[in-house]
Amino acid sequence: MTDINHMTIEQLEEAVHSCTLCPLHQGRTQAVPGEGPLSADIMFIGEGPGFHEDRQGRPFVGAAGKFLEELLASIDTTREQVYIANVVKCRPPGNRDPMPNELSACEPYLERQIQLIKPKVIVTLGRFSMYRHFPGASISKIHGQPKRVGNTLVVPMFHPAAALHQPKWRPLIEADFKKLPGLIAEAENYGDEAPPPQAEQLSLF
Ligand code: URA
Ligand code: SF4
Repeated sequence: MTDINHMTIEQLEEAVHSCTLCPLHQGRTQAVPGEGPLSADIMFIGEGPGFHEDRQGRPFVGAAGKFLEELLASIDTTREQVYIANVVKCRPPGNRDPMPNELSACEPYLERQIQLIKPKVIVTLGRFSMYRHFPGASISKIHGQPKRVGNTLVVPMFHPAAALHQPKWRPLIEADFKKLPGLIAEAENYGDEAPPPQAEQLSLF
């Protein structure tokens, strides 16, 4: 099989569908590689498939997905224009948290997706997606604050499912979404210039 780091997006999707690298493959109906155009400016990284995603093989198709679509509409964007992925591609049983061995087994797929898409902005949704760039951080403290990684801005946001259940977070995620067009414009200015020395390199993903 082709090395993950050299796969096309189609090869990656195929590999994820037949992947057995971690125990999560045992409980899945279908793996959920992620979806969206390779030209997307924004990439959303959620946690993992839930019940509906596992059935349909697509990310964010349940209640959280509907809210995500509403948030996108507030910035005149549709889900077809963005790339949506998760840190684990197979549903953890009963939607439990993904375990460290599962996160590390699945990580190369996400890294390759980021390499292929080269998003201007990455939005992390949920703790495990946030921890990749903000280890141990608290979302209530850092939501909406971008960090430059290479020529990409990584911005942590509340998970839409959490914001649906916590009414006080809803206006916060709505306000954070409104920042996205400005962040894309900012990252566009980076162009192909070398990142400043303090910016993390993409290889640290
Ligand atoms: N929640 C996630 O984190 N990812 C999905 O794909 C759906 C719900
Ligand atoms: Fe493979 Fe990721 Fe699914 Fe684990 S969660 S079986 S590593 S695709």
